[in-house]
This record gives sequence, C-alpha cells and structure tokens, in this order.
Amino acid sequence: MTYKYITTLFLVIVLSTPLLSEEVNKEYYLHSIVQQTIREDKQKALDLWIDFLYETNDTIRRSNWVASDIDKYEDDYCLFQNSYFQFDRVTQLSYFVPFILSIEKNNSDYTIRTMFMQKEVKLSDIGKDNQQITSIVKVKVVEENGRLYLKNVIDDEVKKWNKYSTKNINYIVNNDIAIDTAKCNEAQKFLDETSKIWEKPLTQSVDYYVSNSPESINRIVGFDFSFYGGFGNGMAGRNGRYLFVGNGDFTYYHELVHLVFNGAANRLLSEGIATYLGGTNEKTYAEVKSDFQKEHYPLDSAKITEISIYPGQRSYYVLGSIICELVVNEKGIAGIKSIWDTAGYDDFSNGLADYNTLRERTQQLLDIDETELYKRVNNILSQ
Ligand SMILES: [Zn+2]
Repeated sequence: MTYKYITTLFLVIVLSTPLLSEEVNKEYYLHSIVQQTIREDKQKALDLWIDFLYETNDTIRRSNWVASDIDKYEDDYCLFQNSYFQFDRVTQLSYFVPFILSIEKNNSDYTIRTMFMQKEVKLSDIGKDNQQITSIVKVKVVEENGRLYLKNVIDDEVKKWNKYSTKNINYIVNNDIAIDTAKCNEAQKFLDETSKIWEKPLTQSVDYYVSNSPESINRIVGFDFSFYGGFGNGMAGRNGRYLFVGNGDFTYYHELVHLVFNGAANRLLSEGIATYLGGTNEKTYAEVKSDFQKEHYPLDSAKITEISIYPGQRSYYVLGSIICELVVNEKGIAGIKSIWDTAGYDDFSNGLADYNTLRERTQQLLDIDETELYKRVNNILSQ
C-alpha cells in the first residue's frame, strides 16, 4: 500500500495528541452559495455527513453507510477515510475544519463536496505557506428504504470506464487508456503463481481499477483534491477484493501480492512480502535491493531506527523485504506463515514499533539473537 506520505513535523506533533475535551463541537462552515440555497432536505443530508465525520465510534459510523459499499470494501467501506484520518479524527478536524463547498441534488441523491482547511487561510508568496487546505472530498447521500445513507462516489465516477475480465480480475479502465489484454492475462498468471506460493487458492474475483494519474485514482475514491491523505500510485484493498492503480499499469505486481497476502497487522511484514515478491514503484525487488545496499549497507540498529522514521518510504519497504527474504531462505514460505500474525500498530508514526515486533518474532523463529540477525541480514545484502 503506498500512501502519499506527508511528513510534516507539525502534523505529527499536533495531531498525535488527542484533545481532552469530552464534548465534541461539530464545527463546520458553509460556502455562501450553499448557505443561500440550502433547504430542509439538503440540511438532513448534510447533518448525516457531519455526524459521520465527527463520530468516533466506527460501529455507529458504519450503520450510516450504505450496505453495498460495506459488503464490497468491508473495513475500508468509506474509501477515503482510512487514508485521510491517519491521526485522531476529532483533533484532525479541529485543525482542518470541514468547509462545505457544494451540495448537489440529482434525483433523490445528494453529492456533498467538502474542503478541509485551516480556519484562517492567508495566501502567501511562499509556496510552503499555502498548504492550509489538506483535501477536498466528495461523498454521496442516498435514500434506501426510507432512510438516508452515505455512499462512495466511485460507481458514478467509473460509470463510463471500459471493462475487461480475466478469470479472477475485473479490470475497470479509464477511457483514456487502451486496454492491454496481454498484460491483463500476465497479471492473472502472476496472481495464480502467487496464490500457489501462499498455498491459498484465489476463490474470489478482484476489481482492478486502472487510471493514468494519482489524481485520477484519488478522484474515484472521493478525493477531488488531496494534498494530504490521498493514495499514491496504488492501493490494494485489505480484504483482497479490489485494487486501485494510478500509473496505467495492468500488472502492478506489488499490489497484486497484497491481494493474495492480505490481512497482516504488521505493516512492515505486509509491505516486505509485497516488495520481496512484487517489487515496488515500477522496480523489481533486485533493483530496489541493490539501491538499498548502496545507501544503507551495512545495516545496524541505528540505521534501522533512521529508516523506520519514514514507514511510507521505499527504504522501509525494502527493510521488510530483506527480513522476508531471510525468513524464506531459512524456513520457506511456512516461515512467513508462522510470523504472519505478528502484531502491528496500524499507525503511520509507528514504523519502529512494527520493526521491533517483527524483529523479535523473526529472532524467535530462527532462534538467534539480535547481533546474529544483523549479521544474516547484511549477508543477504552483500550478495
Ligand atoms: Zn504495499
């Protein structure tokens, strides 16, 4: 999974600390055009959205989301939510307040466009000062059985996209891209091989969305604009049933691996295996390993700490893949299986914590101490 990773010190410090106040003030603002045209029905749709934004209990949030999205996307049912709210959501909302740009009515549906911004936006000649708008998201409100529910915009966004299917992959492709069916069949072959390695048959099909820019792929999940929180080139569903690719690639091996090896709590392990078997960002594992070797060899605890500060970056992924290579070399894929349940922190500021739990599990599995682990890891790197 590659997120656009913005490491602004301010965000990390400020947003890692949840607010202590108990009463949540559901602050939001309306653009004057919304203010002048809002009626009772639009207000109801908006209330549902604002309550959803500020709700900290995911079960309650989920109960207000349309069932078809929950069936398909499960824990990622609101497609932009998990990448946008990487910190405590109420605190994040207090710094980047919802500003409602439009509420568009189409038959009985509504589309709400919301900009998240710092309250006092002052334009400046210095580019860095003009970053107070984090994102603009679009969400739908639909009526089902006499009740309003929130819904992703994706089905509307891809309505006119082209389609092509292999045995397990349903490609949904931006009209500006010609579908390369040979590549699609290659991806199917890779999927078959990978599921054979993991000894887990692929029983379900995968929706594989292909577009030609990160902006376009962000748009279909609801990000009209995403300086912060959007997807990078690709994102695989944690339930293994869908995949978004923003670089026109029909064989995005890294993300295809995630579809087979899915559900790991430990991000380093998850990215490690995907990079080991599928490379990353258009480079093979051998290539990124060689780049990593030039930059970081020999690895030691201090260097790993440095790498782990940025768990969204390539070096971190490669660190994970070297550990995976070590485990596979010594224990085969069964070794990966036995450490698959290694705990993770599901938090983007915890790269080092994920590394330490994975390191401990690996040491246990191979029955070695930390010094010996570094020795074997460096041995792999020097090959
Ligand atoms: Zn990944």
